[in-house]
Formats: sequence, C-alpha cells, structure tokens
Amino acid sequence: MAHTRTLDEINNKIDSGAARIMTVQEIVDAARSDHPIAFEDVDVVTTATKGLMSGIMGIFSLRLSPPKTLRKFTDISLNGIPAFPGPCPNEFLGIADFIIYGTSQSKTREMYAGGSLFRDLVEGKQISVTACSSEGTVIEMDITLEDMQYARMMGTRQAIKNYNAMINPTSHPVDTIFSVLPFKPGNSEITFSGCGALNPFQNDPEFESIGVGTPVLVNGSKGMLVGPGTRNYIKKPNMMTIADFKDMKPEYMGGFKTSYGLEPICSIAVPIPILNQRIFDNVVKSDKDVPLTILNLVGREKLGEITYGHVWNDNYMVAFDPSKCEECDDCLAVDHCPTQAFHKSEGIDRSRCFNCGMCAITCTCEDAFDIDLKSVNFNGKDVPIVLRQSDRHGAIKLANRLKAMILSGEFTLNEPVSPLKFAERVK
Ligand code: SF4
Ligand code: SF4
Repeated sequence: MAHTRTLDEINNKIDSGAARIMTVQEIVDAARSDHPIAFEDVDVVTTATKGLMSGIMGIFSLRLSPPKTLRKFTDISLNGIPAFPGPCPNEFLGIADFIIYGTSQSKTREMYAGGSLFRDLVEGKQISVTACSSEGTVIEMDITLEDMQYARMMGTRQAIKNYNAMINPTSHPVDTIFSVLPFKPGNSEITFSGCGALNPFQNDPEFESIGVGTPVLVNGSKGMLVGPGTRNYIKKPNMMTIADFKDMKPEYMGGFKTSYGLEPICSIAVPIPILNQRIFDNVVKSDKDVPLTILNLVGREKLGEITYGHVWNDNYMVAFDPSKCEECDDCLAVDHCPTQAFHKSEGIDRSRCFNCGMCAITCTCEDAFDIDLKSVNFNGKDVPIVLRQSDRHGAIKLANRLKAMILSGEFTLNEPVSPLKFAERVK
C-alpha cells in the first residue's frame, strides 16, 4: 500500500493530540540507533538552520515629528547605521519608513552592524535615532522596538540548501567573510557553513510539502515563506521570508565578526508534513548523505567534496572549563570571539554563543575549551577545521521550539498558496 497522508489528516491528529512530531535531529539520532523510524512513526518533522544570512534587512516605520511640521526625512541612522529612507515619502506626516540592511556597518560604533542592531531592538534596548528632514531640520531621539509602528525582518536569500566549505590555496592570507582571522594560505585550514541534515530544503528537495505561504519561524517569530530568494536555482534553492521583529528571540540572531566586517546571524525553522514516502525517505537521510563542497575561497571553483558527516557528529556545543584557564593577561579567546559571547570572568554567554569554535582555536591553553571541530582529508593531507559558520546546536533548539509550538497549537500548519519555482540555473 502506498504511504500517503493529507495535511488535513495531519492537522486533525494535531487537534486531537495524536500527532507524532519529531525534530529532524531526533530522526537523525533514531536512524543511528537500533530503532529506526518508519513512515507510520512520524507525521511532521521540524527542520531548522542557524547561520550567517547576509540577505536580511529590517523594514521599519517610525514617527519622528508631529504631523504637518516637516515634509519628509532624507537621512536616517540608528546607532550610527545608515538607513534607506522610503520608499514611501510620507509627505508632511512626520513618519519615516526606512530599510536597514543586516550587513550595514555603523559609522559611530566599532564592530556594530545591522545584525547587532536587530538583536538590540529585540532585546528591548534603547536605540539612538538621528534623522534629517528635507528642510535640513535634525531630529535626535532614543527609541525602543515598542516605539516602532511597523518592524518586520525580510530576507532576500535565506536557509540556502546547505552551503560550502572554504579553503585558501593561494600563498597569502585573505580577509573574507568566511573567516574570523585572516584566512591562512596554502590549504592549511578549512571553514564551513550549513546545518547538514537539518536544513529545510535538504528534507524536501522537491518542494512537495512547502511552498509560497508556508508558515515558518524566523528567529523564533512566526513568519511566512514568501517565495524563492535571489540567486536561487533548482540545485541550490533558498527562500525569502518575512516575520515580525516583536516576537523574535535574541538568542537566534545578532552580529558575527569576520575578517571582512560583521555579518548578521539569522535562524529559520520550517515544518515538513510527511505527506508521502518520498518526503519520508528524504527526512531520514543522515549527514553522511548530504554533500559538502570544498571551494577555493578566491574564485569559488570546486576543489573537493566531502559530506556533512565529516564535520558534524554529536559535536554541536563548545564547553569551557574555568579551572583550566591560565588567566593570560591578553586573552585571545575574548579578543576573537565573533559574537562577544566569551568573557574570562563569566565564561560563555550561551544566549550569544554560536558554537563556532574560535575560542578553542585561539586560546593559548589546550584544555580550557572542549569542542570537536574535526579535520578533513584534503589532497592526502589532514586539514583542520578552524571555524563553523553555522550553529547546529542553535538550529536544534529552534527545531525543538517549533515542535513544541505545533504540539501546543501555537503554530498551525497551512497548505501553501502556490508551489515554489526555482530557476534551472543562475544567469
Ligand atoms: S587565552 Fe585561554 S587560557 Fe588564556 S585567559 Fe583566555 S581563556 Fe584563559
Ligand atoms: S564558540 Fe567560543 S568563540 Fe564561538 S561564539 Fe561561542 S564563545 Fe565565542
């Protein structure tokens, strides 16, 4: 008998409390055990990814002056980050609509960019706004997210169907968004991105269960899959989403320092209803079934291929043992933590930690940090992984959150309004 079920049947089971919902990590773990999961055992799988997503932006609307006083606002910045006023001019309304990129760097604060601002807003922090009207009047005020009339995050390219590993075959170090320190030359280190078997598109590569209008979680806030994102193509799909800032959780977002500026962190979770055997056969695939391409950092040509099984294997979190810390005068682990999560006296701030491994790489003591970053055989040489640019632990947490929200009725599964269509190739 063919294995199928409809979304209505699944929703009825959720309503009656009989639905079997699992995170994809639970599926991966079960597949390795003596009790692998069968089609009958699972109705919905929650998938997730947490990584650097350069394409995110904030779309905001904020009152800056009483109505009828100023024509429109032509320059706006938040904590020194330049915004793009408009597109609506809101003439004589005293209201400014504006957009801020997650990658825009502050002109007044060191190591502060759009991703950092978005997290500060969600944390309820006070934000300094400077705005100049077309008449030349300058307005300065402090606001919080509560003062915004509208605050949504949109992503032009998110949750890419996994990503790549990077290596530098040149003879010189390279400053790049793919490293925290200048990327060492001579194929001597590797960095990688992608949550492997957890990635939403990895679990439904034919887009049978998700589509335009599918409800998703963006940084913990209920949002919507709007459609394909930029530079999408069928073999490397990505998505565009929109969600309200007001329900986001700070631990899933922020700024991440690279050797070429700050990148924004974003986390997406997508429910995959198990409608047929094909979908099921994909969700039970493990990290070993998911290819990870090694690219030349300069030029992006393919230099090798491994799988996510080579980089992920129950090694998702970093641990710090303060008793092993040698109390160095100059702590490189603090200096190079890309999210400012590590402090010598307080240890690791788990709400900021990205589990990237940089502290373990830069700490002068071998035992203070514990994380299994692994190494990769490249051209017969063992090359160490020195940085993860995806946080699998954070993605697992978000997939668990989505599972709990579905079970409690807080998150409802809907039919997409239309299928996702991707380009055959990038032009
Ligand atoms: S570099 Fe390592 S051992 Fe030294 S102070 Fe920092 S955490 Fe402690
Ligand atoms: S793993 Fe270490 S370096 Fe990376 S974010 Fe966490 S504390 Fe910072």
